Amino acid sequence: MILFFTLIATSGLWQDDESTTPVVRPSLFDIRQANQTEVFVASDVSPEVEQAIRKTLAAAVETWGSTGRLEYWVVGADREAALQLAEAFCQRRVERGDMTKRECLADRFNKDHGFLMYQEIGAGALATGKPSMSAGHNGGSEWGIHRYSSSLPLGFAGVLDIAAEGDQLTILHEYWHSVQMSFIQTEHHQKRQDQMGPVWFAEGSAVAMAEITSEKLWSQGKLRKQKNSPRPWPSLEQRMSSKMKFVQQRRKTCPALLPDTYEGECRELAYDGGGWAIAYLMHKHGQDVLLKSFHPRVAELGWEGAFKETFGQTSAEFMAEFETFANLPLSEQVKILPKF
Ligand SMILES: [Zn+2]
Repeated sequence: MILFFTLIATSGLWQDDESTTPVVRPSLFDIRQANQTEVFVASDVSPEVEQAIRKTLAAAVETWGSTGRLEYWVVGADREAALQLAEAFCQRRVERGDMTKRECLADRFNKDHGFLMYQEIGAGALATGKPSMSAGHNGGSEWGIHRYSSSLPLGFAGVLDIAAEGDQLTILHEYWHSVQMSFIQTEHHQKRQDQMGPVWFAEGSAVAMAEITSEKLWSQGKLRKQKNSPRPWPSLEQRMSSKMKFVQQRRKTCPALLPDTYEGECRELAYDGGGWAIAYLMHKHGQDVLLKSFHPRVAELGWEGAFKETFGQTSAEFMAEFETFANLPLSEQVKILPKF
């Protein structure tokens, strides 16, 4: 396997509309001031779906800056088409010197992240009428890319009455993971995990940033609401309220309000509780605190060090404070959510 690591400074310089201070990122992913996202779809995925994914990624890049080279691979429900996409993926890896053909053929059937697993999710949803969707940032840093895989985005595809807004949220969530990783300079797997922080923080950030940013982009017209579902799309407050109700339910039986695990039923608290925890931090320290203050520090100070420096307390102190917040009535909690 060839490691791709740009040592010469092509650091990502970018700015957003709220500030003129550029943020410098390390250059593991060859970050440039451009939209470096590429979308690859299986032949049974419609051009409309492909276009919707491209537009959402472009909106994410415009909002948060480029995180470097990013490949978004999307399968549909057709098995043959998924296998063809896997072929195209391998061809690209071999052409770029990332893998040998043999390594890639072994990799693409990987049970957890393989194209067929994602194809089966989409096919299963269409066959049963039960909506199911999965997308993931599946590594790629060893090739200098963010590698994504996704099952069929049901909302963009206009099936099962699923709102396209949900797919936009998913893509923003996933793109935020590339933002987190774009600030991490090491190739070392364990060190990368450490700098991502506990699961509640890594996933909570992606949840909060996607929920809040999508609301902002819809209100500004930078992301188009598609209104393709018969059910009205809930507001930020409604979406976050359902998450909090779920959190209150789950915390009765789960050992931690903010778990550091992807395992078991309590993992959902890392997403929904974590999402609220990050929204609360953003309320206290500013909506761009993660992008402008926290992440630029993480490579140098480590996760806990960056946390202390940015938020003025240890993560343990914050978690205790958040317990108190979680005990407030919902009507008080929703007041911390930004309005657009
Ligand atoms: Zn995530």
